[in-house]
Parts: sequence; C-alpha cells; structure tokens
Amino acid sequence: MKPLFRVCLVFLLATNLALACDKLESGLIAKGEPFQTEFHVCKGKAPGPVILVNGGIHGDEVAGIKAAEYFRSVRLHNGTLIVIPRMNRIASEKGVRFENIEFNHQFPGRADAKFYESRLAHALTRFIGERKPALILSLHESHLHRLKKGNKFGGQVIYYGVKPAPANLTGAIRRINAHLPEPDRHFVATYYPVNGATSEVWTALFGGEAYAIETWRGYALEERIALHKDVVRGFLQQMGMGLMD
Ligand SMILES: [Zn+2]
Repeated sequence: MKPLFRVCLVFLLATNLALACDKLESGLIAKGEPFQTEFHVCKGKAPGPVILVNGGIHGDEVAGIKAAEYFRSVRLHNGTLIVIPRMNRIASEKGVRFENIEFNHQFPGRADAKFYESRLAHALTRFIGERKPALILSLHESHLHRLKKGNKFGGQVIYYGVKPAPANLTGAIRRINAHLPEPDRHFVATYYPVNGATSEVWTALFGGEAYAIETWRGYALEERIALHKDVVRGFLQQMGMGLMD
C-alpha cells in the first residue's frame, strides 16, 4: 500500500469512528400493545443536551414521518438524539389523521382509557418522563400557508405554547431561515397553546422547550421533508449539538 493512500485510509477510518454514536439504542414504546411504536436513540461521545424529534402525531402528515425517519440514522458528536418516527403508528399505517379521537388532544393520557389514542399518549408521556429531553420537536403539516392566514397560522409556522417564548426559538429561526432563499419558505413563530398537546403537556410536566413545526402541504413532498430537516438541523445547531450525516 502506498504511504499516501495508507494515511488517507487511516484518516477516513478515524473520521468514521469519530462520527459513530457512542451508544445506539432502539426499542418499542408500549411494547406488546397493538399501538406499540418504535424509538431510536443515538448518544454522541461528548456530553450535550437530550433532544427528541417525532413525526406522525397525525398519521397523514407524511413529510414529518419521513424527516423523522431520516434522523434515525444520523450520527452525533455530542448530546443525545431520540427519534420517534411514527407517534401514532396505527394512524400512519392507515394514512389517516387519527382513528378514533384527536390524538394531539389526549396528552398526558390515561392507562385505562377507552380509546387507544389516550392509552398511547399515556405510554409516550411515561417514556418522555424517563428521558426528559431539553428540546422536543414535533413535525406536522398544514393545508394552508401562513400567508393566507394572517402570517401567523398554517404552514411554515413554528408553534410554541408558553410565555415568555422559549430561549432558543429566535436563534433557531434565524439559523433555519438563513438557509431558505425564498421568503415564503421562511418559518415564523406563533404563540398558540393547545390543551392536551404533546408540547404543552410535556413542557409542563418535565420542563424543556417544545415546538410543533408545520410545513405547508402545497410544496412537493420532497421539499416538505427537506424543510423539516432544515428546522431540525437549525435547532440542533442552536442547542450546540454537532450533527454529522
Ligand atoms: Zn399535525
């Protein structure tokens, strides 16, 4: 082997090792239940915040599911990334928003509830209570663009549910929008608390910042997925997490 090639090979191997997760974990939340759903954890070698990315709170919002699935396989320098690609797996497999009742109004949920959506919310809340992420990003989609809704509601909006606005919101949006040349793609922040939603309930129970990210369904699926990825990357950078993908 030529010396230069050998040096390059060693460098490549060392780089790959540096990018690997220190600890990888996958499993099932509510294991054994009909509504069980998978989770994935990558823990970087260096310390850092715990961050949760989730998709599929609404089963027909495909871009968020696909973007979350993408983050299952990224590698971190530091911190911990938890991914739940399909929060309501049953609804996502059927391609419907929800099956019985609005899932995103059921949190924290009840173990003995009639509808599985509430029992699933209960299991997810227990899981979040064990992991206590500092940041939760829930990926959604909207049929209306914010420009048609007073520039406050709909797609291309990041919703938050506590006042004052969480510390990392403004900085993250600046980072995200810096990568989006067209102003209609830009994200704006809107205060809009929702009773029983993951963001509000988990923040109240466990602390941490939580956001609902809405992309506009008028853009092609691939672009919506890319927009969700931009948002997640912007928040990770804002939180000081080194992401390599
Ligand atoms: Zn949604």
